[in-house]
Amino acid sequence: MKITSYGATRAVTGSKHVLEVNGKKILLDCGMFQGHRVEAAARNRDFGFDPTEIDAAILSHAHIDHSGLFPMLVKHGYSGPIYCTPATRDLCSVMLLDSAHIQQRDAAWLSKKNMTFVPPLYDPDDVQEAMRKMVSIPYEMRMPVIPGVYFTFHDAGHVLGSAMVELEIEQDGHWRTLLFSGDIGRKQMPILKDPWEPKPADIVLMEGTYGDRDHHPIQEVEKRLARVIQEAHERGGKIIIPSFALERAQEVIYVLKRLELNNAIPDIPVFVDSPLTCNVTHIFRLHTESFDQNFSKLMQEAGDPFQLRRIRYIRSLEESMELNTMKGPAIIIAAAGMCEHGRVVHHIKNHCSDPKNTILIVGFQAKNTLGRRIVERRRVIRVLGVERELNARVEIMNEFSAHAGQKELIRFAMHFKDCAEKILLVHGEEEALLTLRNELHSRGLTQVEVQDFRVPVEL
Ligand SMILES: [Zn+2]
Repeated sequence: MKITSYGATRAVTGSKHVLEVNGKKILLDCGMFQGHRVEAAARNRDFGFDPTEIDAAILSHAHIDHSGLFPMLVKHGYSGPIYCTPATRDLCSVMLLDSAHIQQRDAAWLSKKNMTFVPPLYDPDDVQEAMRKMVSIPYEMRMPVIPGVYFTFHDAGHVLGSAMVELEIEQDGHWRTLLFSGDIGRKQMPILKDPWEPKPADIVLMEGTYGDRDHHPIQEVEKRLARVIQEAHERGGKIIIPSFALERAQEVIYVLKRLELNNAIPDIPVFVDSPLTCNVTHIFRLHTESFDQNFSKLMQEAGDPFQLRRIRYIRSLEESMELNTMKGPAIIIAAAGMCEHGRVVHHIKNHCSDPKNTILIVGFQAKNTLGRRIVERRRVIRVLGVERELNARVEIMNEFSAHAGQKELIRFAMHFKDCAEKILLVHGEEEALLTLRNELHSRGLTQVEVQDFRVPVEL
């Protein structure tokens, strides 16, 4: 048996791992590389393996850096099932379609730049084909995937529908367990249940996005958000919140709802300016089985947790553009989370130079993204081809992170100290993974290694 990673090695995007066992190949995730547009486009065009040779695929969750290349995999000949949870399947139906539109726009941009036709990675028809192959399997249901291999999804507590994948593998009458962590969530996050407590495993493929740091405790999130809103309100400014359409936006809206119910923030309009976020929020309402007790209780007592007194969900471009000339304080939540595309880029361009305004960063910002340059508080940022002074206040609230912080990752890994032959670290920038590896080595987990790009590991 061997495993080879074709992405998310010493980096956070492009999650793809091929497990070869019993003469068959199982693909774990088929995520898109993101970041620098030209480089990412080139990497996304080369899987590094033949899609027609894959026998079955398992998807951990709907984030595009895990799911985004499934339509292309199918377009290039993959004909097997794609197993995922019911919520992941629902989310993929809107997120992959949105991604297809982005691919089409990017291809048009590249074609113009290179003065030669560049086809999109995939289009909406390819998404439909991929959706037809998605088989939804609930948490805790043990399913055969190929002869001699079973898998079970466990709640990862990371985003709606997210799963850790436990594979039970029989080779020559000998059983071993491989756990693919997917992205590991955090305890006590708004909305979702806590992550599953892992059982012993022989091999672990685990993420380490925040292997080198911890987050502010989530308990402080309401107080901090209330302060940011209060201050912006006093200055008469707007708050621009670049937000991932999945999970982060719903968490922010839910926390705003709680603040509103407690009269802890001024009466200020909230605009959710992203058709994708509108669609994803609707899918949340369909999956009440995923909610934790607090969220369910609020739902029972106060009705729809995503409906505020003065919230407007905006789909049309006209309504979005009206926000440009709107006066007075307001909160604008818009995608995409790393500010690389989507309506948020326009809002940043229009609002970043006015010191009255605030850009509130609530998510991870990868290298080479506009979001990262804002986090670094560069004096001048390039937005949509023009240079703008960054005078707006930049507030960073990493307590919303959907990823386990260093302490939680260490706690997760310690479950495997005495049982795992190998723990392979993926999905983290190099510094984070090396720091995490060293921390784990110092605690006696000498079986921890950082996974390399396209280097098969014999298991
Ligand atoms: Zn994720």
